[in-house]
Amino acid sequence: MAPLVDTFGRLHDNLRISVTDRCNIRCFYCMPEDAKNFQPKPEILTFEEVERFVRVAVGLGVNKIRITGGEPLLRKDLPVLIAKINAIEGVRDIAMTTNGVLLSQHAQALYDAGLRRLNVHLDTLDRERFRQITRRDDFDRVIEGIELCRSLGFGPIKINAVAVKDLVEQDIVPLARFGRERGIEIRYIEFMPLDSQGLWDKSKVLLMDDMLAMLREQIGPLEAVPDQDPRAPATEFRFADGIGGVGFIASVSKPFCLNCNRIRLTADGHLRYCLFALEEMNVKTLIRNGASDEEIAELIRANVRAKWLGHEINTQKFVPPPRPMYAIGG
Ligand code: SAM
Ligand code: SF4
Repeated sequence: MAPLVDTFGRLHDNLRISVTDRCNIRCFYCMPEDAKNFQPKPEILTFEEVERFVRVAVGLGVNKIRITGGEPLLRKDLPVLIAKINAIEGVRDIAMTTNGVLLSQHAQALYDAGLRRLNVHLDTLDRERFRQITRRDDFDRVIEGIELCRSLGFGPIKINAVAVKDLVEQDIVPLARFGRERGIEIRYIEFMPLDSQGLWDKSKVLLMDDMLAMLREQIGPLEAVPDQDPRAPATEFRFADGIGGVGFIASVSKPFCLNCNRIRLTADGHLRYCLFALEEMNVKTLIRNGASDEEIAELIRANVRAKWLGHEINTQKFVPPPRPMYAIGG
């Protein structure tokens, strides 16, 4: 079948699948403290429905899958889904993004299901700030989960750290040191306007250049990694002393839309061509109404054809997406 190329010539081979909109912590920039109105279970795609969708998408050239949420480890029997996806011929790479709270509990089963690549979300090594950000006291569990996964042989493990100004400045350097000591890349993510409470404004974003300056000053020279995959969202740097590196998802200061290769499936079965998309297509109804593989494929193609050039965070025209991050799948 013809590959998924949008009207701007971008090839799409990367699918992010959210498996739940629920979460066991409450990062203030993602979920309100009293979050409710989660999707009822019957609205969430079953493993069979997800697997079917992935098979069709793989037939269109998708080969990289990331499992996310909400908190994916809240989804019962997640390793079963991972094993099913991993077994699909044509899937070259499967990864998961998690807050790490339940990692220790599920690490072995995830490993046995074939998962190796992990992004663990951790913004700070300060227990009190962790509590302030997540409104929960699970710092030790996250660290325990990371260490267990390292010992089991997961890799690469990366840490996702959301960079909010006037909050995490003191965490940038300790996190990089933590990563350097463990062979873990820290990925600093500029705070994006995806919170449900409208807290975002540009002045609250800790920018890549400012973080780079802190790291250079307090740890040492950093150089851009040569020949980076232009379609990867992170801009990567290595420490000149050869010990480790860091990456930046600089969605605000250096949007990477022109190279975007991603589509997203929400837990309730809607297809989105962008994290910030204002429209989405209903896969679930199609599947539940008995659609053929070709009809599902056509919906995927139509979604990619409809894709815009990129978000407009930096312009007056920007309109936040109707769903917050946890309901889209980060
Ligand atoms: N619960 C998992 C987690 O926290 O990693 C997976 C879902 S979460 C929505 C995916 C990622 O989104 C997180 O790792 C976090 O770094 C990022 N994130 C959430 N809200 C964000 C925001 N407003 N701006 C930037 N990144 C955000
Ligand atoms: Fe939960 Fe992840 Fe959102 Fe934090 S960022 S509230 S861990 S879904």
